[in-house]
Amino acid sequence: PEKQWFRAEEFVSELANLCSADKRFNNIDIQRHCSPDDELLGDRGQLRQALWNLLINAAEAMPDGGRLIFDFLPNPPRLVVSDTGPGIPEYLRQKIYDPFFTTKDHGTGLGLATVHNIVEAHGGTLELQGSQQGGASFVVCLPVDEADV
Ligand code: ADP
Ligand code: MG
Repeated sequence: PEKQWFRAEEFVSELANLCSADKRFNNIDIQRHCSPDDELLGDRGQLRQALWNLLINAAEAMPDGGRLIFDFLPNPPRLVVSDTGPGIPEYLRQKIYDPFFTTKDHGTGLGLATVHNIVEAHGGTLELQGSQQGGASFVVCLPVDEADV
């Protein structure tokens, strides 16, 4: 990846605009919790692709509408995407990153495998948490080396 520092707020706005233009997000309320000082380090184009995969999954998990929440956490910089869908049961949590694993009738099972690869190539981690709203919450952690500061 070609790493650069960029503003989380701008990046999240860009993603929110992509969602607004896509009818799969029609009944989904988007909330953003980033501040002007929040910065991420990574390959913006690759991360856009990764986050988009997470967002599509969130939309597909909320076919009747719901809420999508972006949060930024500092030290190390992390972007968190949470939804108010059904969440992911414990027994599936080890499998969801496997290429071609899907629970959908017409899924490819490649979305999370791609996200995982992109985040790993950044030396980062991708973690699933249960969200406070009961849905899924994916934490993309993008660590900063001494050399990057
Ligand atoms: P696909 O979307 O084609 O099924 P993914 O790799 O993107 O493949 O996701 C794998 C599986 O992980 C999905 O089929 C679904 O079971 C589960 N999953 C991923 N994201 C979510 C989410 N936000 N809420 C509920 N389940 C999810
Ligand atoms: Mg997917």
